[in-house]
Amino acid sequence: MIPNLSSLQKRDLNHVWHPCSQMKDYEEFPPIVIKSGKGIYLYDENGKQYIDAVSSWWVNLFGHSNERISKALSEQAFQLEHVIFANFTHEPAIYLAEKLTQISPEGLTKVFFADNGSSSVEVALKMSFQYHMQKNKPHKTRFMALTDAYHGETIGALSVSGVDLYNKVFQPLLLDTIRAQGPDCYRCPFNQSPEHCTAPCLSFVEEQFKQHHEEISAMIIEPLIQMSAGMKMYPPYYLKGLKDLCVQYDIHLIADEIAVGFGRTGTLFACDQAGITPDFMCLSKGLTGGYLPLSVVLTNEEVYGAFYDDYNTMKAFLHSHSYTGNPLACRVALEVINIFEEEEYLQIIAEKGAFMQELAEKMFCHLPFVGEYRQTGMVGAIELVKDKETKEPFPSEDRIGYKIYRIALENGLLLRPLGNILYFMPPYVITKDEIQTMLELTFEAIMQFFEDSLSEAVLEVE
Ligand SMILES: *Cc1c(COP(=O)(O)O)cnc(C)c1O
Repeated sequence: MIPNLSSLQKRDLNHVWHPCSQMKDYEEFPPIVIKSGKGIYLYDENGKQYIDAVSSWWVNLFGHSNERISKALSEQAFQLEHVIFANFTHEPAIYLAEKLTQISPEGLTKVFFADNGSSSVEVALKMSFQYHMQKNKPHKTRFMALTDAYHGETIGALSVSGVDLYNKVFQPLLLDTIRAQGPDCYRCPFNQSPEHCTAPCLSFVEEQFKQHHEEISAMIIEPLIQMSAGMKMYPPYYLKGLKDLCVQYDIHLIADEIAVGFGRTGTLFACDQAGITPDFMCLSKGLTGGYLPLSVVLTNEEVYGAFYDDYNTMKAFLHSHSYTGNPLACRVALEVINIFEEEEYLQIIAEKGAFMQELAEKMFCHLPFVGEYRQTGMVGAIELVKDKETKEPFPSEDRIGYKIYRIALENGLLLRPLGNILYFMPPYVITKDEIQTMLELTFEAIMQFFEDSLSEAVLEVE
């Protein structure tokens, strides 16, 4: 069925090429035109309301059109919108760098600015590589990552990512990354439960380190949750063990906290739960509370020192973006951190997270197609499986998650499943009542989908 298109939808489809989309799908499912947002809600051109359960691709923390952030942004816009960042600086960047070094793991004292998550990953990879060149370790030219990792989609970041959906077609262009099988707690190959995990799967990493450590510059990881892989969660113990292995084998650890940073896992940074300091930490997404693109790479004195020398030694780190250290984005990031601290959001996340987990487990775990409900901090995920006993997944071509997404949207809920994983990652300003509504709408969408498909199956038999 071809839907009636509004004038804006027609104009969009005439010229706009959307991300992460097969544009042909838009023939029968045109883009929803959002006119405004407030708190956890988005409003389309017909005034229809949607709960933003995915924080608009994991970036929003304190709701849409937040009063405090919008005010800070507006004031900054009338003061200074941008300035070249080589040889020049400004208050928002200075204050933000100070603040970030105070709140991040001990020892991360230097801040390099970029303007999106992927770019910060590029920065960390290049810095690690150049560090080793300048420390007379010219054989350290490769990077290592976990299977199913996601670190962004520029060529370098894509090279260390391992999600087939994004990588496959570009394979001939990518760096030759060393890969180790990552943790998979739901289908643990060692049959351990997350509560009693001794991380035997770290042996997959150690095998690669043993074999390749002389050529590995850095290991990059998404701490505690491999999100794009389908919200795969693993315990801090693994992270701690990985850090020890990196030290033992003289390999940099890059913590990609782009998605998990700023409270998503229940602590300000996921690394905090393992009590580790990585050599590089990448931040973006929540950094500006969903307002503006900005990213940073934090690193330590040892790395910084390897680049610090007379000009003619040519040791400087030459990497720049036009919008490096943009004052608007920095001012917004500062306000985000202020809100986080002043309004004691770690406490709020703990309370709302516990509420969400208890309710979700009660509502979903007994359903026949729910293999597992898992949660870390304010990230919850339902894994739908074809067979609960064997944990056999639904075939991806059935697009179960996508079909449930479509039903939920009809009912005013924006979920955006990863394959057959439905997940909740709402802005922290969501109330308990709204959490309940979000879960109920999800429940209804799942039920409606399975009822419809079961009756279809019956019809086919008849
Ligand atoms: C989103 C994401 C990135 C890429 O950030 P962009 O701003 O989209 O380029 C990298 N790593 C992780 C873990 C992410 O979730």
